[in-house]
Formats: sequence, structure tokens, C-alpha cells
Amino acid sequence: MQSSVYILYTGGTFGMKNTTEGLQPSTWDEIIAYLPAIKNQNYFHYYSEIDFTFDTFEPVVDSSDITPNDWQRIAQSIEKNYDQHDGFIIIHGTDTLAYTSSALSFIFEHLTKPIVLTGAQLPIFHPRTDGIVNLSNAIYIAGYKHFSLPCIPEVCICFNDDVLRGNRAVKTSTNDFEGFSSPNFDNLAHLEQNITINTHLLQKNTNLPLDIKSTFSHRVVNVTVFPGYNPEILIDLVSKGKLEGIVLRTFGAGNLPSGKRWDDLFTTCKENNTIILATTQCPNGKIELGQYALSNVLKNAVVVDGKDITPEAALTKLMWVIGNYPYAERIGMLSRNLRGETS
Ligand code: ASP
Repeated sequence: MQSSVYILYTGGTFGMKNTTEGLQPSTWDEIIAYLPAIKNQNYFHYYSEIDFTFDTFEPVVDSSDITPNDWQRIAQSIEKNYDQHDGFIIIHGTDTLAYTSSALSFIFEHLTKPIVLTGAQLPIFHPRTDGIVNLSNAIYIAGYKHFSLPCIPEVCICFNDDVLRGNRAVKTSTNDFEGFSSPNFDNLAHLEQNITINTHLLQKNTNLPLDIKSTFSHRVVNVTVFPGYNPEILIDLVSKGKLEGIVLRTFGAGNLPSGKRWDDLFTTCKENNTIILATTQCPNGKIELGQYALSNVLKNAVVVDGKDITPEAALTKLMWVIGNYPYAERIGMLSRNLRGETS
């Protein structure tokens, strides 16, 4: 069956070349010229029954330079092309890919089409690149109609033969081809010799029209608690009205060092409409307030239990909720599992 796929290249190692200053991204035209030729036609000719639309950031970036403004740009490109295409591929650097996939998952509500993020650990110009496999796998997921595969109507990451939910994934290796993992949720699909899509895990189609909200608050911080940590600096910042949200990365199942000024922090948060999203520093498992005595202090109206959310999803969810909802609705929104980001 004929299918249409939109590909947006933003940069990242996938298309990087060695320069005197280190690896830097090259343009989409350079990449197209380099991709393996099949019968003298370019790589994409192999998928002759898929209509591709190619788009590129200008300039292309190392993903360490990606900003919430870029999440909006990506979302606008997808929105503009949504009706005409069956699926979307975003080629992105791996460093902040899980932030972008989490942010996009919150931006788009009631998705009916796949938005697939991919990248590479070795550039496509390298003889052992993983970029070709990753892109080819992404084409199968985004061009699912042509390959008679089930649709994954979600923002997902396609990397090293796995498809992970975008807001469940974390970058776990700087060099392994398996650069991402999904510590608290099974993979949505495996692309080995056979392709297996775990349809029972997919977000359900709501039959509601696509809804797009893409404002992100910048007045947030991500704080990792450490032995002896005291929240003095946070109290100071919140009391000066500088913070609307705090991701507080606690020990284990939600524990904090005792005898510190936590209650003062929460009172100051209440006075300044600041919300705390409590998460765990552990890659696996979740917050369980009350399991240990030292987590009871977090049972406070300004604190939301982040359960098993990833650090990337926690930060982007907090920024997104603050950006798009009035204060009175924020605690409720943050407590809900909005896009499958918590169990
Ligand atoms: N620094 C690169 C980037 O995030 C790393 C990569 O793509 O793997 O753009």
C-alpha cells in the first residue's frame, strides 16, 4: 500500500563529520549524497512505494543546543504536515533526544500517527554506522501502512532494533549501539529478523481531534538531593518568586535527609505558587511515600508524587503543565498519567 512519511533532520551524530574542532553536523544534502546507492538510485528509492517529504533544520545542530523553542518548531512542522502523512521521523542527536521525545509526547494529545525519533552513535559516514539501521527501522514504523504493520500512534524512539515509548526512555550509554533503555516500561516493539509490535502496550485511540499545546515554562529547576543536602538555596529562590516548579530527585523510594528545612521550603512554595514534582534518583522503581519514615515529609499539598517517571519526562511534564495550565489546575495535571509516562 502507498504510504507517506515526513522526515525532519535536526542534526546530531547521525550526520556528523570530523572537523578540526571535533564532530559537527553536516547538511541534509551532504547526507543524501552519501547514503548507500541502490541500483544507482539513492537510498530512499528502495522504498519506492513510500512518498517521502524531507525537511531540515537550518542550521542543523548538536542536540546539546536544542531548546524548548526547537520542540515548538518540530511540533509546528509536524502539525503543518499531519494530514498529508502517515508517519513522522525526527532525526535528532542522542544527547537530548529523550527530552525532545518526552516534550513532544506532552505537546500532542490524541495522536493517531507515529512520531518516531531516531539518531545514531556513529555517523553514517563511518563504515560501522548504526545510523542506516536506525533510519531503516524508523521508516518501517513511520511507514507502517506500506509494510502492513500495526500503527504505533505515539511519540516513540527507534534505536538499535527497539522501539521505546518516547516519555519512558532514557539515554543510558554514550557509546553502546543500544544507547537508550526504558527502565520501567516494556519496549513497544522489537525489530529483529521479524518485527514484533506489542499492540497491548500502545496508547488507545481516543477518536478525539488532535490537540496541540506547546508552551514550556523556563522557571523550573532539576535538583538532585545528596547526603547532607539542605534546601536553603531553593527557599531563597522560591521566596524571590524565581521558580514555578522544582523536580526534586529524592533518594530511593522518596526519602529526604531529616532535620532540614523541608517544611519551610513547602510553606514558601505555597506562598509563591511553586510546585514540587518528587521523583527518585534510581533508574528503576518508583516513589512510595510513607514506606520509610524519612519520606513522610513529602506528604504535602505542594508536592506531587512522580511515581516511576523518568528524569526527562518529569522535567518536560513540569515545564509543559506550568506553561499551559493555570496554577489551580497544575497539581491535578501533574498527578495524572497524561501520555503513558507513569505506571
Ligand atoms: N552530541 C551529539 C548530539 O546529541 C551526540 C549524538 O547525537 O549521539 O547531537
